[in-house]
Amino acid sequence: MKYISTRGEAPPRDFLDVLLSGTAPDGGLYMPEAWPRLSAPQIARFSRLSYEEVALEILFPFVEGTFSREELASDIAAAYRTFDTRSIVPVVPLGRDLNLIELFHGPTFAFKDIALQLLAQLIARGLAKRGETATIVVATSGDTGAAAVAALGGLKNIELFVLHPAGRVSEIQRRQMTTSGHENVHNLALTGTFDDAQAIVKGLFADVVFARRLKLMAVNSINLARILIQSVYYFTSAAVLRTPGVFAVPTGNFGDVFAGEAATRMGLPIEKLLVATNANDIMVRTLNDGIHAVGETIPTLSPAMDIQIASNFERALFEAAGRDTVVVRTLLGANNRRLQIPASLLSNLQVRYSANRASDQETLATIRLFRDETGRVVDPHTAVALAAARKTGAREGTPMAVLSTAHPAKFPEAVEAALGEKTLLPERLSNLLSKAEKVAALEPKLPLVRAYIEARLAHHESGN
Ligand SMILES: *Cc1c(COP(=O)(O)O)cnc(C)c1O
Repeated sequence: MKYISTRGEAPPRDFLDVLLSGTAPDGGLYMPEAWPRLSAPQIARFSRLSYEEVALEILFPFVEGTFSREELASDIAAAYRTFDTRSIVPVVPLGRDLNLIELFHGPTFAFKDIALQLLAQLIARGLAKRGETATIVVATSGDTGAAAVAALGGLKNIELFVLHPAGRVSEIQRRQMTTSGHENVHNLALTGTFDDAQAIVKGLFADVVFARRLKLMAVNSINLARILIQSVYYFTSAAVLRTPGVFAVPTGNFGDVFAGEAATRMGLPIEKLLVATNANDIMVRTLNDGIHAVGETIPTLSPAMDIQIASNFERALFEAAGRDTVVVRTLLGANNRRLQIPASLLSNLQVRYSANRASDQETLATIRLFRDETGRVVDPHTAVALAAARKTGAREGTPMAVLSTAHPAKFPEAVEAALGEKTLLPERLSNLLSKAEKVAALEPKLPLVRAYIEARLAHHESGN
């Protein structure tokens, strides 16, 4: 399998190049040259396979030529050994036509573990094959950083730098990042916003000499491997639902919901992908009205979705445009903060996607209502999807599958605000409270961060 850029001006690459890089050199995102197609009987057979076996079936065509089937199988096994349930992604039926897809059974209690645990294994294997080391820099609003530390901490050929906005991540999220004790993990608390941290990471990648010298690579969802890995749970969930359903997806960077589109392009029948956002509703306005207008980021109770620029929307546009890279370049190349999606393109998107938003008020009310109706407590991101699902509805008899992206204990403040009572911290989270933290505070300035990274790397190389 070769991989091409959504903007059509970068040479095709093989899986290992794509795995170990970031955006394509033309500013686009990598996509498979063609989607492998699974037949209906193949997909039906997934209901009799384990999560790991389904992952192997789906992912092997993408890595073939880079990794053997045995290597992939061994990495999948290692990745999901850290999960607290054998089924990896349980589907919880909750009465008529409503199902929760629990994506939070990994080490950091949020769905990013599912991709990052496996991504880390593949990256380590790929680097070893090439005899290389890499520097991974990631900006986080909380969950990605924690999942990256859990997945990449302690790996030999990798140095990991995690940039978070000081004081804007929850205490649990911060401690998940800062208490790992691993020598290769470097935390930076930047006195700014998530957008400042993100801009610095972009600046580091844009410094081509620096990026090349340090072998800089990305593990956020611009990395295609993450999306491919996430498409697996659409297949395993659909196998449980049996009839094509609506998947309601709490959306920030559009990675998780695009993984659903990837599954459909590989042959999985899905009725609709429901894009659920909080007050940062740029994708709802885009998909409903065709106006893609970037505004100011609003802090909400579901911070992992407080995003204005949903990077992976570029991948959906590319597909909706029939893979016409000129269209993608024309629309996205100019970095406009406001663009109009052409009508034919919009209607292609609307065949696949619907969209709805929930305010913080609705999020809290939904946590309460859902607890009263089902006895279950959900986190605020899941609540946004539940609220959107309720507002949008589905045809009678169509199963609704709500992606539950975090464990409620990870967002205790919101849950307490909704229910008026504290949630119990699982032991693995309460243990964090007594561990020593390692973190450096810096002003959000590119030269300072660059110098810090260089100094840490030099320190390591000298064997200290
Ligand atoms: C990252 C995240 C999301 C958003 O997923 P995207 O792939 O960025 O759309 C939703 N919920 C939680 C808990 C997350 O950590």
